[in-house]
Amino acid sequence: MDSSLASRYREVIAEIDEAARQADRDPADITTIVVTKFHPASVVHDLYDFGVRNVGENRHQEAVEKHAECTQLSDLTWHFIGQLQSNKARAVREYASVVHSVDRSSLVTALSLNDDEAGAGAPPLDCFLQLNLTDNPQRGGVSDDGLLPLAELVLAQPSLRLLGVMAVAPLDEAPAAAFERVRRASERIQTVAPLADKISTGMSHDFREAISAGATHLRIGSAITGERAVAG
Ligand SMILES: *Cc1c(COP(=O)(O)O)cnc(C)c1O
Repeated sequence: MDSSLASRYREVIAEIDEAARQADRDPADITTIVVTKFHPASVVHDLYDFGVRNVGENRHQEAVEKHAECTQLSDLTWHFIGQLQSNKARAVREYASVVHSVDRSSLVTALSLNDDEAGAGAPPLDCFLQLNLTDNPQRGGVSDDGLLPLAELVLAQPSLRLLGVMAVAPLDEAPAAAFERVRRASERIQTVAPLADKISTGMSHDFREAISAGATHLRIGSAITGERAVAG
């Protein structure tokens, strides 16, 4: 058991509760996903013992291996938060219940089940549409113009459930301003998908600003896990 991991976790949770109260929000409306990328499965087990039930991974190969070492943790929810190649999409569905990085129509198609599979009773996959808040298309995420058409496409897939929007604040913009843009995108998406009112924003260095701007899902890595573990 890693006691510094436990204390960092408790400290961050206390800060989230405090930020929620300052924003007049109920901390129970905020889901904290602990991002465990670069850290071994033992860290996931430790976090589980502290009460963590949501973890995030951004690379498929790493996630699939780690998930295989955590199968006893049956009520742990795995969130896929990284850029996703369409040819890995079906494999991600095997362990992840939520994908935060849906950003193009080909990925929607790849994540969707056909009628036979959906009829077999598989639960729908929860999806966030990732917004690109930069001018650089390489960064991943859908542009402003593409947001509503992509939302309509997800809504048309019975095997997908649209939760809302996700974004990473750009390095060259104040987080509060970036998250205000996300809040407006959230309002737009709710004009076509009233239930898709969730917002996945907020990382180690900007979760307080994200909470003020309405984040419902925080993705927090290093503030809890510490710096990347050194191999060997
Ligand atoms: C790594 C990562 C995070 C967590 O970042 P920290 O700064 O370590 O909290 C959140 N979201 C995404 C998409 C990531 O890749």
